[in-house]
This record gives sequence, C-alpha cells and structure tokens, in this order.
Amino acid sequence: MSGTGTENQTRSGDGAGRPAAPGSAGSFHAMWRELLPVGRHPGTGGYRRYAWTPADAECRAWFRQQASARGLAYEVDRNGNQWAWAGDPAAGDAVVTGSHLDSVPDGGAFDGPLGVVSAFAALDELRARNVQLTRPLGIVNFGDEEGARFGLACVGSRLTAGRLTREQAHRLTDGDGITLPKAMEAAGYDPDAIGPDPERLARIGAFVELHVEQGRALDVTGDRVGVASAIWPHGRWRFDFRGEANHAGTTRLADRRDPMLPYAETVLAARREARLAGAVATFGKIAVEPNGVNAIPALVRGWLDSRAPEQGTLDTVIEGIEAAAREHAVAHGVGLEVTRESFTPVVEFDHALRDELARILGKEAGLKVPVLGTGAGHDAGILAGAVPTAMLFVRNPTGVSHSPAERAEEDDCVAGVLALADVLEGLACR
Ligand SMILES: [Zn+2]
Repeated sequence: MSGTGTENQTRSGDGAGRPAAPGSAGSFHAMWRELLPVGRHPGTGGYRRYAWTPADAECRAWFRQQASARGLAYEVDRNGNQWAWAGDPAAGDAVVTGSHLDSVPDGGAFDGPLGVVSAFAALDELRARNVQLTRPLGIVNFGDEEGARFGLACVGSRLTAGRLTREQAHRLTDGDGITLPKAMEAAGYDPDAIGPDPERLARIGAFVELHVEQGRALDVTGDRVGVASAIWPHGRWRFDFRGEANHAGTTRLADRRDPMLPYAETVLAARREARLAGAVATFGKIAVEPNGVNAIPALVRGWLDSRAPEQGTLDTVIEGIEAAAREHAVAHGVGLEVTRESFTPVVEFDHALRDELARILGKEAGLKVPVLGTGAGHDAGILAGAVPTAMLFVRNPTGVSHSPAERAEEDDCVAGVLALADVLEGLACR
C-alpha cells in the first residue's frame, strides 16, 4: 500500500486525466483506489469479501493502516470489530462513524466501504478545517455485516449489542461446514471472547453510518445526500420441501413427490403477496438434494427474504406465502417445514439526532436534505437499540446494490464526505 491519508496533502491526480483534488476529496480517491482491487473476482467484477477470509483480512489490514497513517489509536474489540480513535474513548460521549468492509457474494464496491472510506476522509477534512474535537471521535469497521458466509447479518454489531449470544454465534456454520469459531480462530481471533460489550457501547454518545443508498429515492428527488428515518422490519425464513428422490426418466408423473413444484408455486406466491402489500419478498438462495440433472429432488430448501414498511404488513405477507406453500406442498404430497432464521423489527432512528443532522446539513451547509426510509438492514439498525444512531445516504443513480453494477458518482461520494464532515463537526467539534 502506498502512503496515504495525511491531511492537507494534495494528490497528483489518479492517472485518468482528472485534476488533482485537494484535502478530503483527494484522500477519499486515494483510499478508494487502494481498496478497489481487494477481493474483487476477476470474472464477475463483483466483490467476495466474506467474513474471516483472506480478502476480509486484507480489508482489515487496510483499515489498520489507515488508522496508523493518521496517528489514531487502533483496537479490535472482542467481537472482531475494528476501531480507530481520535481522542480517548474512555472519556465517554464519543461520536462514532463507520460501516463495514465485507460484501455479499459478487457485491458492489460501495455497500459498506463507502461509509468506512468516507469516515477517514471526513476526519481528514476536519483536520484540514483545523477544528478542535470536543468529544472523542471513533471510526469503526463492523465485522461480518452482510452475513454472506454464516447466513446471519450484522454478527459483529449484534454480538456487541447483546442481540446475539456467544452460544448462538458458535452454532453458525458456513456452506463448507466450517463453524464461526473455527473461522475466527483461523483468522487469528479468539472465538471464546465474543459476547455483549455494554461498556464499549456506553462510551458512545452518537453513531452515524454513511451508506450508499440501495434504491433510487435520492436520484428521483435530485439530491446527493439524504438522512435515514427508519429501517423496515425484515427477516429471513427457510422453507424445507421434502419429497422423494427418484429417476427422472422412469418415474411416472403421477407417482412423483417432487418438492420442486410446491417450491416454484411458493416463489410465485411470494411475488404476488409482496406486490399486493407494497412489500418486497425474494427467494434468492436455494439448495437442492441430490442436485442431479436426472434426479427428482428429495429436498428443495429455499430461503425467503422479506421486508415491509410496517410490522403488520410483513406479518400478512409471510402468512400469505406460508399458506400458499402449505397448500401446494399438500397437493404434491410433499412435506414442508418453515423456520424463521432471523428477524429484525422496525428500527426508528433517534429523532433528536436525525433532526440535528438535518439541521446541520440544512442550515449550516445549505443542503436540502430528504429523509428516507429503507428496506436494507445495517449495523446502525442494530446499534440504534443501544445508542442514539443516525444514517446518511449517498445517491445511487441506478439504485442497484448487492451487484457488481452498484455505483455512485465520484462527485456524490465527495458530497457525502463533506456532509459527514459537517455532521461530525457539528456534533464533536468546537
Ligand atoms: Zn451495507
């Protein structure tokens, strides 16, 4: 890695013909370019930064290097979250910003890293402004936010907030049968130390997560930056359809107990129920046994992700999907088991902090700041139960996320950095 991150440094451009950008914009671009190749699959162009893998370790090394380049105190908490501190967190009432560096399978470059890179760049901006911190300022990289490997999102923040016990976390297993403790151990961390960390949370007076928008609301309103109002309630359900494996060539249709058929009907039902309710529902992952092209499946296991603006709506959607699944399973002589694997109720962000952000950005920076709800889960949503929490969204011109096509314009990213710097200055500086 090249030496980056000292504030007031003027970058010499990025080789693509763009002029040198001073201050925080320059430091943003330099950090962005460093992180860009890490964990990117050469074939798909998507990111595969899964928790406790070598790509994750490289991202974490990058974080540590950024902390050290700025003379920040660096620490890893017992749940594997990384922290970089300006000022002493023991003083309490700290302002913390950051996000995550891991990704979904073939995820985009922005979901997560934009918040971490913007955090360091915003600190550079504050230093360039020569403002004095009156509260400790922390930058955090939460571990295993996406849940791509172990199937549960926000493991690092959930553990810290006491929303996931050590025993539950120890039972998490990846697709290769490797348990979370084994994976943590292999990456050099102590899985027996994980668990709630109320002392750490008690030191935080405000947490602000900047994130690329995962939708097109800001593009529609023509704004670069928005403030979050709430995260929709959301959850993951596993549908196990059990039938009977048999020969695809010799078994008469009438004699089959094919679990693929009720599964297919359930996928269609999910779409219908979500559309009728103004919610979203997705079967995006499936496992088939024995998974042979010439075999009727014995088992089709599908994972449903569903979210809605309100709890009652989500309940109605899930009940409708489950009823359809049962009806079709019975019709095809197939067994069905539905398991709720995770659930997060609606998260209303702290109203006072949200209004403070809108005030800082609206009055001091002169921005028109839309307030948006979101269907995506975030570490901020987990922390919101324990500390005053807010989120900033940066415009995503296509709305595409969790895909290599996810993007944000450079100018919008820089606007995000400056907005975050304004917010941090308003909250933590004199
Ligand atoms: Zn994210």
